[in-house]
Amino acid sequence: MTNADPVELEKFSQLAHNWWDANSEFKPLHDINPLRLGYIDGVAQLAGKTVLDVGCGGGILAESMAAIGAQVTGIDLGDKALQVAKLHLLESGQQVEYRKIAVEQLAEERPGAYDVVTCMEMLEHVPDPQSVVRACAQLVKPGGQVFFSTLNRNPKSYLFAIIGAEYVLNMLPRGTHDYAKFLKPSELAQFCRNAHLGVSDISGMSYSMFNQTYSLGRDSSVNYLMACRRG
Ligand code: SAH
Repeated sequence: MTNADPVELEKFSQLAHNWWDANSEFKPLHDINPLRLGYIDGVAQLAGKTVLDVGCGGGILAESMAAIGAQVTGIDLGDKALQVAKLHLLESGQQVEYRKIAVEQLAEERPGAYDVVTCMEMLEHVPDPQSVVRACAQLVKPGGQVFFSTLNRNPKSYLFAIIGAEYVLNMLPRGTHDYAKFLKPSELAQFCRNAHLGVSDISGMSYSMFNQTYSLGRDSSVNYLMACRRG
């Protein structure tokens, strides 16, 4: 059985044609991309590395990592997002290998194949996030790095990520996120340790309504990134 929720996949499929429109529902992903790219590259020095991007969607992060010299594979289970991602390569001239395959299945096919694995804004959409973390840990080489980003679970994240983003600011379609699937950093860190990944850093990505910009920092109360290393 695939660790995927068809309703979640359908939500992204409905919007997939907008993936590269930086003023669409995907604006937040475009806005945070330079920050997360800088964070990942700062830790892992991506140039020349083999990178797997899990739940790559239309390829915003995958392409940006390829553009700075990484050899990138992007996987997702959404057909439409993958089609959009492949088409966009024609426009950008970048090279990314895109495949429709579950991360758990790729972990059986290519264990220990990647210098770096990234899995951004995806864990909160899958039935069994721990299984995804385990597969990511299997896919990275010993000594390699794995990066996750997701949403924290507390009253503030409910207020900002659901009420604020979906109901007040209309940044995201209503129903994009399910509060019960948000993960506290302590829970994600436990999944990582269970998978023999050491957590090296947790950083927050916060949104300022005043400036309408995101910044990286220590406030991980809503959006956060976690950097891990396979021992
Ligand atoms: N990681 C990308 C896209 C995030 S949107 C980025 O941050 O820019 C969430 C993505 O997760 C969508 O593309 C959706 O199709 C994908 N997804 C949801 N469930 C999945 C699953 N079980 N396996 C693979 N991808 C999944």
